[in-house]
Order: sequence, then structure tokens, then C-alpha cells
Amino acid sequence: KGSLVCVGTGLQLAGQVTVIGKSYIEGAQQVFSLMPDAYGQRWLESLNPNITDLQQFYAKKGEIKNRRITYEQMTDAIMSSVRAGERVVGVFYGHPGVFACVPHMAISRAKNEGYSASMEPGISAEDCLWADLGIDPGNYGCQSLEASQLMFFEHHLDNSGYVLLWQIALAGEHTLTGFATTQARLKVLVDLLRQWYPDDHQVCLYEATNLPIGNCRAEWIDLKDLPEASLNAITTLVIPPSRALQYNLRVLKQLGLTPKDLG
Ligand code: SAH
Repeated sequence: KGSLVCVGTGLQLAGQVTVIGKSYIEGAQQVFSLMPDAYGQRWLESLNPNITDLQQFYAKKGEIKNRRITYEQMTDAIMSSVRAGERVVGVFYGHPGVFACVPHMAISRAKNEGYSASMEPGISAEDCLWADLGIDPGNYGCQSLEASQLMFFEHHLDNSGYVLLWQIALAGEHTLTGFATTQARLKVLVDLLRQWYPDDHQVCLYEATNLPIGNCRAEWIDLKDLPEASLNAITTLVIPPSRALQYNLRVLKQLGLTPKDLG
């Protein structure tokens, strides 16, 4: 009977896959992959030659295609192999379940149809970010949001903690057909962020390296300069806190404590 496991490879070529993830890849009858570059793809092929590259479902040059259709087609490709009775492994860069819809869709569909399906965690962009920038998300707390979701929906940003905006290069891109935002949309985002942050608040354009050599990109800019910044598909925007943590005097009182009691 067919089965599905979705695994992550981490971001860095070959070095950040988990032991169990690699063994699933090696033991699969059919692998479906979504890797960030050709190096990653070739490395996977060296582990298991029975591999289908899911990149083929993205819009071709000049083609206009809604990414919802792309994701459906990717899920369908995976599911047809599961239905054919194969031991299928989906391989996705980073963590397969973090800001990635295809693994979640495929696993829930497989389960609904009575197949065994599960996910193995991987090292996500966020994990690399804490390591590269030397930040502990536990110090002030952290919110992770897709940039567009922050723009389209009411969110309450906690500016006493870190805020990560994923897919900043697609901020406000609602058609799901384009692969870039515009300066005008980024200005709308900066305007929105002004309610929590000053214009000269320092924010970081972060890109982990995908190769075992080279450094990450960690470029600090004024928030107001975001519309002119060079943004890539892999850029994550890091917004550090703009105000100190505030004591919750009501809860402290219920605990019989005052701020002085806290180290
Ligand atoms: N599943 C992936 C995320 C896919 S969504 C993971 O676990 O990391 C794509 C978004 O992830 C990008 O827009 C960016 O915000 C982030 N991302 C992907 N690669 C990155 C990299 N090399 N450095 C920093 N952020 C990255």
C-alpha cells in the first residue's frame, strides 16, 4: 500500500538534512523534490535516482499561472504516486511544514484517502537566522508572519519582541501570479509598520547561504529605505523590538509579586 513522508533538507546543501530524513530519501520508491537550486537537486539525485522535480509546475517563462494551480498540480503528482502503491517521499528545502503548503496539503489528502502519511521536521530559514544573527527568540518573544498576510489582515504586532516577515519580496502580491513586489506596495507596508516603529528603525535583510561555503546576507537598513532595498525570493525581513518589555502588573499582583521580585 502507498505511503507518504515529507522531509526537509534544511537550507544548506547536504549538511542540514536529518539522519532520519536522509534515510527516508534513500529508501523511497519515488521521490518528489522542491529544492532551492540545481546543486541541491543533484545531491538528491545522488541519494536516490527515482526523483521527480516539482519545479516543473511553476509558470514557465512568459506564462501566467496562479500559484494555487501550481500547488494543486504538485499535490496531484505526489498523490498519483501514493495511489499507485509506492513508498513516496516528498523532499522540501528548509522545514517541510514551515511556510510551505504542498507538504501539508499532500499529507492531509493522503490521510483522508486512508494512506499512512507523516512529516519529519527540518531546519528552517528561521533556525538558521537565530544562529547566524546570534539572537535568542526566547529573550523577547518572536512573531513570524508572511509579509502579505500582515498587509491583508488585521494583526497585532508585538513590537517588544522580534518580528520576522517572510516572503518580503512578494509583499502585497495578491494575484499569486507575479514573483516580485513593487516599490509602491513596499511603501504601503512601511506605512503600516509606522504605527509600531520609527522611520529610522534598523531592520535586517537576512539570507542564509544555501551552500556550505560563503556567508549569510545580513544587511541592516532604515525601515523607511525598505522600498528601495534589493529583495530576493529568499530574503526574510527581521524587525528587532522598538520598545522595552512592559510589566504585566495585573498578573504580577495575582502572583503576589512586584517587578522588583523579578531578576
Ligand atoms: N520551508 C522553508 C520556507 C519556504 S517559504 C523553510 O523552512 O525555511 C520561502 C520564504 O522562506 C522566503 O520568502 C524567505 O522568507 C524564507 N527563506 C527561504 N530561504 C531562505 C534563506 N536562504 N534565507 C533566509 N530566508 C529564507
